[in-house]
Amino acid sequence: MANVHELIFLKEKIQGLKDDGVYRKLPVLGGANDSEVILDGKRVINLSSNNYLGFANHPRLKKAAIEAVEKYGAGAGAVRTIVGNMDIHEELEKLLAEFKREEAAFIYQSGFNCNAGTIQAITEKGDLIISDELNHASIIDGSRLSKADKTIYKHSDIDHLEKVLKENRDKYNNILIITDGVFSMDGDIAKLPEIVELAEKYEAMTYVDDAHGSGVLGESGRGTVDHFNLHGRVDFSIGTLSKAIGVVGGYVAGSETMYEWLNHRARPVLFSTSLPPAAVGAIMEALRMLMESTEYTDRLWDNAKYFKSKLGTLGFDTGHSETPITPVIIGDEAKTMEFSRKLLENGVFVSGIVFPTVPKGTGRVRCMVTAGHTKEQLDRAVEVFEKVGKEMNILG
Ligand SMILES: *Cc1c(COP(=O)(O)O)cnc(C)c1O
Repeated sequence: MANVHELIFLKEKIQGLKDDGVYRKLPVLGGANDSEVILDGKRVINLSSNNYLGFANHPRLKKAAIEAVEKYGAGAGAVRTIVGNMDIHEELEKLLAEFKREEAAFIYQSGFNCNAGTIQAITEKGDLIISDELNHASIIDGSRLSKADKTIYKHSDIDHLEKVLKENRDKYNNILIITDGVFSMDGDIAKLPEIVELAEKYEAMTYVDDAHGSGVLGESGRGTVDHFNLHGRVDFSIGTLSKAIGVVGGYVAGSETMYEWLNHRARPVLFSTSLPPAAVGAIMEALRMLMESTEYTDRLWDNAKYFKSKLGTLGFDTGHSETPITPVIIGDEAKTMEFSRKLLENGVFVSGIVFPTVPKGTGRVRCMVTAGHTKEQLDRAVEVFEKVGKEMNILG
């Protein structure tokens, strides 16, 4: 008999990944995540990050992080309910609520944690969760932790959502409709006004995960709810502090009642140490910067429009994105991965995204333009796209 410690069953699965051609190593950064990065030892233009506003390596955020460390230390030392709740955690929540134009905001250690903690705390047996089929993995996992029943509706299909609501309204106590605010693979925005209207008609609650909308949409990045002016009509407005805000963390914004309940029942807050002071300090500086000026979001949108129009003019298919997320659709899976590899050889890092992350035959490289890119960097990237596109007969 083989030794149990050899983990033969995992070795077999790993071999399966290799046989399927999906085994990979993680890319390694040799420095900060910025518009150009040192990737596996080579300097390249970075079109793969979620660092929308260029905040991840911003001098003001770094300074605020250092100052917070000097006053509060490297770690929070405990979960919030014991002795890990510092005044800066509460200040951050007040600042977030003000920024999001909601009564209150409750912070988590990540966006993932926020979904893992919030959904199970606000639903129970006898409730129904209705989820968009393209919702993020952390919503799916978070829903699995809930004792409520779950069902999905076709992506952004309002008629289908209504059908599901109509069929189920009388069978359940509470109903929670969950959607991403911005869908990360195509860059399309949820049809929130229609969703909220249906929710109100059928007396359901709404939960919007705005990880790719916060810092991007709405006035100075206040998010999708602000973009559609739906304040007070979305019950749970989730954001991450790890993407546009450039640090780490997550939150849910909404009512004071929501805050009070999560304060008692959100498991990541009861059983996991609170955000480190450096993160809190840097996040607060980022929020102050956004509340001072629309300079950062303006530059993000300006850069995204510039890059999209240049790629479109060359003849690339950039899909139907409504946000700075810019997919370049190649189609075939192997060709997509080869395109990404060749772009990297030529100094541009853009991740290839293929089945099962997106439907078969819709492989794409996903370009993430940020406020931190210079026009010169974007021009250089476009030149590389043109060169590789011609070499591979993607462009005529
Ligand atoms: C990225 C993402 C998350 C996870 O956020 P982290 O702060 O990185 O944990 C959650 N939901 C959605 C929709 C996301 O895109």
